[in-house]
Amino acid sequence: MPLSEYTGQSPLGNEDATVVRVVPHRLWQPGQTRTEACTNCGEELVLSEEHLLVVLEERGTRTRRYFSEESCIRAWLGEEKQD
Ligand SMILES: [Zn+2]
Repeated sequence: MPLSEYTGQSPLGNEDATVVRVVPHRLWQPGQTRTEACTNCGEELVLSEEHLLVVLEERGTRTRRYFSEESCIRAWLGEEKQD
């Protein structure tokens, strides 16, 4: 499904938070290898390699969440059903 369809959804168990956008992301930082854990499965992501970035807004504050793949976003939103 198009990534834009996740906009406006809330993560499972956190109705105060809303997805602002989901984008394919690659961080370019010469000389640095930055890693983050996938918010859903905990897999370590190297941010210079392509992954998915979710901008989440919670009570007026925007934060960034990193995901290894779209199925992890669906699980995090509580949407594991196939369509
Ligand atoms: Zn994951």
